[in-house]
Amino acid sequence: MRKIAFGYSTRCTIRCAHCVAAGEIPDTQKMEFARAKEIIRDLAAAGVTGISFTAGEPFIYFDDLLDMVSLCREKNMYTRIVTNSSWAKTPEKTDHLLALLKHCGLSQLRLSYSRWHQENVPRQNVLNAARGCLATGLDYFISFVTDFSEEDDTYEHYLRDNNLKFFPEPLIYAGRADSLDRKPICTDYQENRCAMNPYLAPDLSMYACCDAGSHFNTTNFFLLGNLDDHSIQELFVKSETNPLYNCIRSMGITAIASFAGMNARSIVTYRKCELCKKLFDSPETLKDLQEAARSSDLQRWSR
Ligand code: SF4
Ligand code: SF4
Repeated sequence: MRKIAFGYSTRCTIRCAHCVAAGEIPDTQKMEFARAKEIIRDLAAAGVTGISFTAGEPFIYFDDLLDMVSLCREKNMYTRIVTNSSWAKTPEKTDHLLALLKHCGLSQLRLSYSRWHQENVPRQNVLNAARGCLATGLDYFISFVTDFSEEDDTYEHYLRDNNLKFFPEPLIYAGRADSLDRKPICTDYQENRCAMNPYLAPDLSMYACCDAGSHFNTTNFFLLGNLDDHSIQELFVKSETNPLYNCIRSMGITAIASFAGMNARSIVTYRKCELCKKLFDSPETLKDLQEAARSSDLQRWSR
């Protein structure tokens, strides 16, 4: 099943210190509305069945969003909007906006929440948005971004105290978060596989990975190409047939790191996306791994 993260605009209502989407130059980009609708039609024709509207704050262009969600419904595509809830100031306003989205066929709302978001958006807004979803019959969940520090406990308790559906999301140290302090960690020796749903940026560049992958600036390993030069179908095929991407999906990054010569003791000190960056944003290591994946030596590194 093909899915995509759709970055209509990187413009946001707030400026979080941990933002992965930010850090690009220019800071704010937006697709042409007519082109965005054309792309959605092309995505449907290419067999994409799910779109996540993300990047900056999608509610800034609310009328455009309604039109795009309606178009997706017309094309039988599952739709999700990732939002910071800054618009959910009162229950009345929230219910009104959510009813419009529900009417247009929105499938799910993903509410971003963290101690960084909540420096600028009151927690009450997230509560309004979640309760509005329940009242409107719209599926939702809260994405609780955390660096697992003690100061996040009160944020987690707030969600529990209000019976909200949430999932912890490890902070990704990319974009603005690249400059945040890292606490030493020691993870389990886990596979670290990634589904790798592509991300379409407002400048129409498409990346094979929607998280930290657009920030591998030395090798641009995850950059598939731009829709001004390639069709969506071509870029999806490129993503799906790249042997090294497929090893990330099937073997996971930990096994690839071990194959590349990293000590197990060193591997467990890396967060997933940072381990990925260490391997694939280094031209020499990347060249060796691409060769190993092409010759299937890498795929043979399995139990
Ligand atoms: S993390 Fe989300 S809400 Fe915060 S600045 Fe980035 S896009 Fe906006
Ligand atoms: S580990 Fe690599 S492929 Fe997976 S989300 Fe992070 S940057 Fe993307």
